[in-house]
Amino acid sequence: MVSEKQYTKPATIEEAIKIVSENPTTCKFIAGGTDVMVNKYQGNDTTSHYIDITSIEELKGIRRDEKFLYIGALTRLSELKKSKDIQDEFPVLIEAAHAVGSPLIRKTATIGGNVLCENRCIYYNQSEWWREAVGYCLKCNGNICIASGGKKACFSEFVSDTAPALIAMNAKVRLIEPEGERIIALEELFSGDGVKPKTINNTTIVKEIILPLGQNFRCAFKKLRLRETLEFTSLTTAISINKENKIRIVLAGVDPKPVLVEGQLNDDKSELIKKAVKGGRAVENDMFSRTYRRDMIPVFLNESFEKLGI
Ligand SMILES: Cc1cc2nc3c(=O)[nH]c(=O)nc-3n(C[C@H](O)[C@H](O)[C@H](O)COP(=O)(O)OP(=O)(O)OC[C@H]3O[C@@H](n4cnc5c(N)ncnc54)[C@H](O)[C@@H]3O)c2cc1C
Ligand code: SF4
Repeated sequence: MVSEKQYTKPATIEEAIKIVSENPTTCKFIAGGTDVMVNKYQGNDTTSHYIDITSIEELKGIRRDEKFLYIGALTRLSELKKSKDIQDEFPVLIEAAHAVGSPLIRKTATIGGNVLCENRCIYYNQSEWWREAVGYCLKCNGNICIASGGKKACFSEFVSDTAPALIAMNAKVRLIEPEGERIIALEELFSGDGVKPKTINNTTIVKEIILPLGQNFRCAFKKLRLRETLEFTSLTTAISINKENKIRIVLAGVDPKPVLVEGQLNDDKSELIKKAVKGGRAVENDMFSRTYRRDMIPVFLNESFEKLGI
């Protein structure tokens, strides 16, 4: 258990930012804790001070105006399906959230935590003993990437299930930082560096996710995994077409960041698929081989295009 000294529970964003700004290197925000706590007990998260943000009302709830839907970062994954706006305009988000973990995890896990969940690799998500035995890799203070046979870059995989669906639908995020507030496209949160996969610092709070209303999105979502439950992705594909016939294809599980390919409805689909396959830098760090995951990208995308009737 986390001792009292290492745990604070602010009631406002302002208070949370003040605490984290005073201790930026030792603090970490915790929401549902379903990702953070597993990493902590495996020895991969050495944070000494957890800031529990679950009492912050400003991070809760789903609201809308004429143009956008605002999903509070603390919205539990199991709650998304209760929103009429999400049912009507973004049903693929419900499907993507349902692909996460198990019912108990979805009742605890938040959407903010899901888009920020840590990248994964079979050489990293192991016990301390295991990692010591094989020799530490770049992501745990070693010198090389074991999965790629000694490269000096980390290819841990981006595995969030909701982020590909959200990015496909042009989601943005509102960030609150010590310097102020800003809104960025969700895909800009990810760096592509497997060691530090996010572009934001420990001091940034994700306040809400913003989705554009009235786009008449048609979407398809697919996830490759060993079992139908309790399994992180080995490949996720999300496709959207909006009312202007713009296509966005997003992949997860094959690169340290989401792979995004944009096109138009009348573009050659096989060219879009080729771009998607080329975009991912998958290495041998998953239960499925690199080749199999890459081969499954065209399979999933073709099935999705077929489902969408294009
Ligand atoms: C058995 C098991 C199976 C799982 N399967 C899946 C799966 O299939 N797909 C999947 O995507 N995930 C899976 N997960 C991982 C995890 O449960 C989810 O990603 C979950 O949505 C994380 O949300 P959380 O609220 O628990 O995040 P936390 O663990 O609380 O936090 C995750 C990260 O986000 C940061 N954070 C959280 N909220 C904010 C905020 N508002 N602002 C700034 N930083 C924040 C934390 O500091 C931390 O770095 C699984 C976990 C387990 C234990
Ligand atoms: S991809 Fe390489 S460096 Fe990154 S976690 Fe895996 S083995 Fe380590």
